[in-house]
Amino acid sequence: MAIRYFQGGMVASEAGDPVRADVIIEAGEITAVGENLDVPEGAEVHDVTGKIISPGMFDAHVHMREPGQEAKETIKSGSEAAINGGITGVCLMPNTAPAIDSSQMVKLVAEIAERDSRIPIYTSGCITKGRIGEELAGIDGMREAGVVMLTDDGDGVQDPALLRTAMEYATGLDEKLFFASHCEIDELSGPRALNEGAVSDRLGIQGSPACSEEICMDRDIRLAHSVGARLHIQHVSSRIGMETIRWWQSMGARVTGEVCPHHLLFADEDIGEFDTHYKMNPPLRTRADNEALVQGLIDGVFSLISTDHAPHTPFEKAQDFVNAPNGITGLDTALVSLFHHFVEPGRFGWDLLVKRFSAEPRRMMHLPVAEVTVGKPADLIVFDPNGESTFTAEFMQSKSQNTPFLDKTLKGRVDMVVLGDEVLLDR
Ligand SMILES: [Zn+2]
Repeated sequence: MAIRYFQGGMVASEAGDPVRADVIIEAGEITAVGENLDVPEGAEVHDVTGKIISPGMFDAHVHMREPGQEAKETIKSGSEAAINGGITGVCLMPNTAPAIDSSQMVKLVAEIAERDSRIPIYTSGCITKGRIGEELAGIDGMREAGVVMLTDDGDGVQDPALLRTAMEYATGLDEKLFFASHCEIDELSGPRALNEGAVSDRLGIQGSPACSEEICMDRDIRLAHSVGARLHIQHVSSRIGMETIRWWQSMGARVTGEVCPHHLLFADEDIGEFDTHYKMNPPLRTRADNEALVQGLIDGVFSLISTDHAPHTPFEKAQDFVNAPNGITGLDTALVSLFHHFVEPGRFGWDLLVKRFSAEPRRMMHLPVAEVTVGKPADLIVFDPNGESTFTAEFMQSKSQNTPFLDKTLKGRVDMVVLGDEVLLDR
């Protein structure tokens, strides 16, 4: 049981700009936060002058591919990528092979996580068996086994009657259970390669129109509203999608939304000459959508940021643009990329990152919120705003490197990750 003294940091919270303070952790608990604290006897002293001491981040939308696709990622490599990126908890999506659609599968993933991960791993469960959209998954069993949300992520549930039945049934079982929708109308979305627009025209590839996502989103929120279910909209990519959620929130619907760094930062025109690192679903839309999504994040239409970390092997991503799988990695890079593009230029403060990338996702799942406050368990990171990160293949801990940030250098660096009595990362 160690005593750790962090000297000269800037302590971050949801409440406002980081505040100058020292932090003491004893036996995994934060025992003092304040200026010019005495160094306790036998303490390990870390000089963190000018660095941010922040609650650890939480990623509510992660694909770790295990079981079934361990060449792309495992729970072990994925959780190390999370730590590398300052993330101290994640929720996994259920599109593994086989899918997480029964209590047995939930328990299997929990056992692997217990054995292989140094951070807490939570999992979602499928809405329908095998994510095929035909019959309900074993929702009650999965609930007892501990799933924190229900989703067929990767696909939308196409049958509205089945989705409405699932919502009515699950909400009746347990008020805490909620749904997360990947919104897409299959008949509209075509080969799911890229956004329908000027870039798809130029490249000569059939595009997926934003209305495929927006119509499904409006429908799913309306269905949830009709039965009083709580619904979370995943990876929103368009301005009209964001405004749809805003409107439903004003109508009193129990709906939240999330946005991913890639939808804030990149647009279809970045695809260039068929760069598959920019291929994901929902696809990158336009610069105007980027701007609207950032505003939605600042306004609180989106309560949270998630990565939709979706690793694929280089072999798969080397296929032609239409056949290459959808997805981009994010665990290693998300926090630094958000700092570099938004916090450093003054677009929003670190407090917004704490709120949307740490506190709100945990609240949504009814988990304890990480705070750098006396009496709380240590769940924090040390971030150097003057440092840099170069995202080489060696630096990133994910098994896959399908990200446009590969070999790029960005401002900001995660220097330490502390969870309880353990230092998980010390660069
Ligand atoms: Zn996903």
